[in-house]
Amino acid sequence: MRTRSGEGPPTALLWFATVLAIVGSGVTFALELPAWGELRGVDLVDRGLVALVPLILLSLALMFLVATWRRSARRSRRRADRAEARMAGIADDLPDVMVYEADAEGRFSYVSAGSRSLLGYEPEELVGRAIAEFTAEEPAAVVATDPARAHTREGTWEHKDGTPRTVEFQVQRGPDRGGAAFRGVVRDVGARVAVEAELRDTHESFLVMLESAQNGILIVSSAGKIQLWNSVICDILGYEPTELRRMTLSELAPAVGGGSLMSLVTARIWGAAPPGLYEKQITRSDGEVRDVEVSISTYPLGDNERSGWIEISDITDRKRATERIQQLADYDHLTGLPNRQVMEGAIADALERAQAGRRSFAVMLMDLDRFKLVNDTLGHAVGDELLQQVARRFVEALPDDHLVARFGGDEFLVLVPNLASPEAAMTSAGALVASVSTPLEVGGRSLHTATSVGVAVYPHDGEDAATLIRRADSAMYRAKELGGSGYQFATASLDADSQHRLNIENDLRAAIEGGELTVYYHPEVEIETGRIESFEALVRWDHPVHGLLPPAEFVPILEDNGLIRLVDEWVLREACEQNRRWRDAGLGPVVVSVNLSARLFSNEGMLEAIRAIVEETSVDPNLLELEVTETAALQNVEDAVSILKQINDLGVRTALDDFGTGHSSLVRLKEFPLNTLKIDGSFVHNVTTDEDAGSIVSGVIALGHALGLRVVAEGVEHERQLSLLRHLGCDLAQGYLFARPLTADAATTLLSEHRRLGQGFAA
Ligand code: C2E
Ligand code: MG
Ligand code: MG
Repeated sequence: MRTRSGEGPPTALLWFATVLAIVGSGVTFALELPAWGELRGVDLVDRGLVALVPLILLSLALMFLVATWRRSARRSRRRADRAEARMAGIADDLPDVMVYEADAEGRFSYVSAGSRSLLGYEPEELVGRAIAEFTAEEPAAVVATDPARAHTREGTWEHKDGTPRTVEFQVQRGPDRGGAAFRGVVRDVGARVAVEAELRDTHESFLVMLESAQNGILIVSSAGKIQLWNSVICDILGYEPTELRRMTLSELAPAVGGGSLMSLVTARIWGAAPPGLYEKQITRSDGEVRDVEVSISTYPLGDNERSGWIEISDITDRKRATERIQQLADYDHLTGLPNRQVMEGAIADALERAQAGRRSFAVMLMDLDRFKLVNDTLGHAVGDELLQQVARRFVEALPDDHLVARFGGDEFLVLVPNLASPEAAMTSAGALVASVSTPLEVGGRSLHTATSVGVAVYPHDGEDAATLIRRADSAMYRAKELGGSGYQFATASLDADSQHRLNIENDLRAAIEGGELTVYYHPEVEIETGRIESFEALVRWDHPVHGLLPPAEFVPILEDNGLIRLVDEWVLREACEQNRRWRDAGLGPVVVSVNLSARLFSNEGMLEAIRAIVEETSVDPNLLELEVTETAALQNVEDAVSILKQINDLGVRTALDDFGTGHSSLVRLKEFPLNTLKIDGSFVHNVTTDEDAGSIVSGVIALGHALGLRVVAEGVEHERQLSLLRHLGCDLAQGYLFARPLTADAATTLLSEHRRLGQGFAA
């Protein structure tokens, strides 16, 4: 307990005032005494009293003052004692806190009751003991470093029971009374230090855990600020840890395709996306795109703020491996085409869609004709390469929505989706047959191959995959029996018309291969002179049963199934060779004109084919003219202009055929790079009877001339027509009036006889 050193009201002063009053009275009395002897008794008393009065009054006043002073001093001491007691009480009440004062030597002069719980000592036991017994820190030395402020140290003080206690020892100067030179508090901080240590340990183990995680981990704020990360994430994203500190999530992993990582995190943090594993693509610092698997957990972080815990694992390698395995499982290793399993799955899907009421579909089975022969004679390596090339041709020949699969060996399967009618599958089947009808370059040699196709259509030929494939297979065998290089439908699919058309089509394939096609030459005559200026090459089919068939019977079918390309190229080659023969025989110069089908006209390989044929046949390109119908040219004017120009660039002439049927405005004509304009026979037919036709023909001739073109009138059958055309200034005429289309031999004879044709020139 506090000990006091006798500070208090001045009792000595009170005594002094009393003594002064008595002594003063005595001295005064003694000084007045001689005079008093002369006085009478009463005077003496009076004088004595008079002399004493001021002194007594002075003493009384002094005593009063002293008494008042003492009273107030007592009061303030009581107040101070009360305050001190309160303070001491408060200090005593502080749990595990010991308030102390110490003298200049560092010995406790006052200690609060907290000493009991803190160190196990009664306060009285500590008073007088040196602080140095508990700590190596000397209060004087500590305070001396900066006397103006309080100093805090942490250390271990020994409890009375011998156990160490972790305390915070605070010391400062003061209070400079009662001999206290230092004061301060000693507080038990064991619990806090333990918690802190635990926290530190937890934090460290957390960081260790973060580091030892196999996945990349990022902790971000809802605004995308990166708060913590591990080194795996640095490896995944290709950043240095120091770089991450300054980055946001959006900068760190910019979005690739779809939603960004940031938007996913935001959605997760605010509950808009469900938990789970998300697959994303992110960009590394070096720009490489990686596949990652992302999971995001979120947790609140104060009011209205949440954090995201993002775990990222790089699955690029795994994904590639899976894809590779998938590829191996789903694709044929030789051709890269999907395999049988994939096709069966696709057919199952198509069945489901078809049963749901949507469109029909077809399954086509192809087998290469005579493939075994190739394999046996040229070896498996050649056979393999042939299969690869054939697979490529099949894929290129079909629209993108068709699925081509290898079924094994030289068998392929095609799924034709979205069929409006069974007949619609004919186009695809024809394209497949045509796609391998030109030779393939395999191992440095040119190989001829062909395919037979069997077509089965859902639901006519079967309502499940197995039946459809089986029916397609037997149809394919029928196609083979019919000579191969063709297609057959499973019987139930086609109506009679379609079957007839199919028969013609299959016959045509044989015709092309069997040399049943031939070229006729129809002269075009200079109206003024009757001289044969040119021959138009017109294809004919010398059918073994139906006789000579005109193009109208088969060209449209060939245009549908793509075989027209073969025919046109064949006719072109024939015509060029014929022209060269005429030149070689000195029967020229005469122009041959060859018709190009609309389908071939827009074909990418066409120009190459023309160039090759012109070179191979050594025809004079100036004596070759290629005809394109007005309708074909109008399908895509820009392309047509460009193709015609490229034909011109080869030195080959160009003509616009059947002019007047395509409803093009006459003005458009000037856009096409042309040499010749052929007025359609229907106008010529009516030119003498129909005024409109007459004025059209007249206008076309004038316009053609204005554009510097040679104008030919087609289908001239009558003298009247010829006269009118001559009158209108038409340059050339073609028609039965002069001749029917002629065989090559007949045309040669005509040329060799220098025959002039037409009115006034007739032979
Ligand atoms: P085109 O190119 O307009 O050929 C002229 C057609 O009119 C020929 O019919 C010809 O025989 C016919 N013709 C000519 N003068 C007369 C006449 O005075 N009276 C009648 N009634 N007809 C006459 P063709 O040979 O039947 O050819 C028809 C169409 O077939 C050709 O019309 C042409 O567009 C196409 N064509 C012919 N050969 C080929 C070919 O090799 N390839 C392609 N893609 N199409 C061809
Ligand atoms: Mg023509
Ligand atoms: Mg024509």
